[in-house]
Amino acid sequence: MIRPGCTLGILGGGQLGRMIAMAAAQLGLRTHIYAPDENSPAFEVATEFTIAAYEDEANLVRFAKAVDVVTYEFENVPSETAATLSAHALLAPNAQALAVSQDRFLEKSFIAGLGIAVAPFAPVSTEAELAEALERIGRPAVLKTRRFGYDGKGQVKITPETDPAAAWEEIGRAASILEGFVPFEREVSVVAARTAAGAFAAFDLCANEHRYHILDTTRVPAGVSPETEEQAFRIARSIAEALDYVGVIAVELFLVTEDGTERLVVNEIAPRVHNSGHWTLGGATTSQFEQHVRAVCGWPLGDTARLGRVEMKNLIGHDADAWEEILAEPGAHLHLYGKTEARAGRKMGHVTRVFPEAS
Ligand code: AMP
Repeated sequence: MIRPGCTLGILGGGQLGRMIAMAAAQLGLRTHIYAPDENSPAFEVATEFTIAAYEDEANLVRFAKAVDVVTYEFENVPSETAATLSAHALLAPNAQALAVSQDRFLEKSFIAGLGIAVAPFAPVSTEAELAEALERIGRPAVLKTRRFGYDGKGQVKITPETDPAAAWEEIGRAASILEGFVPFEREVSVVAARTAAGAFAAFDLCANEHRYHILDTTRVPAGVSPETEEQAFRIARSIAEALDYVGVIAVELFLVTEDGTERLVVNEIAPRVHNSGHWTLGGATTSQFEQHVRAVCGWPLGDTARLGRVEMKNLIGHDADAWEEILAEPGAHLHLYGKTEARAGRKMGHVTRVFPEAS
């Protein structure tokens, strides 16, 4: 039984770890962050921290023994690291959630196996396999590395004009999957939580707009039919149940509209709190960070009610220089991540604006 006063261990020291740690502190928990970079933004708000590599077994064991439950803020936790942590502490979400979400082929196969729609896909490990996959799937298509892709990195779009050999070079001849291009109208996501006892709660579906392949704006409500929103919740729940998932999960979906009918296609899952759930901090009764803490501790899940029409905007690079103007804006919730250097494309903070529902 985890109680206030216990210690939550968090692997990863970025803004997600930082916001989980702040939510944990609000609920009377102590936190211990484990990350390799001495400048990790999460260290500033944690009770304790360890600076060590994710492959450093001795430090991982010491960390796991010093905490009551371990969670993480990124999906690329090496499988050996997850195994070491699981041997000495409760790990939530579990190692299977990591394995499935780390590899796009396993991920798509797993989701399709649940009877949930995904883009047509095929594994590609040679140039010849790419040619075969293109025959089967057709063009346009997207070639993606199986592992370590994010924010559009590790992806090549294949149009009728693309030379497959060039695409294969561009992807670095890495183990990949080819996906059929989904002609989506909008990208939406569902952020939900599940506890070990099987309790489940989803936040309202949100619509996401990207700029330069990075999330720019999230809007809630997403502007889909109530049936589509229910379907998104069912999809998230069945994925979470199949993984015996504990914690917050994000499911990114494409909304396809054909002859006025809406259809959802899963793009990918993230076994963690997610940027498209930042709107809940200030925009919902319980934030995704608090919900994650509640779920991994086995506590009752919080109320997911939305507090109005919500817009979350990421502050990328020098966007955050406008902090004073944003602070002066009525109704704006500003969150800065404590990063010193505003490099291009770097997420420095976000602002959430909550408006009366009908506006
Ligand atoms: P991902 O890294 O898989 O989330 O892909 C990044 C972005 O590329 C997505 O947010 C989409 O905008 C686009 N994208 C990825 N896969 C597809 C697809 N199969 N069809 C259409 N667009 C895609």
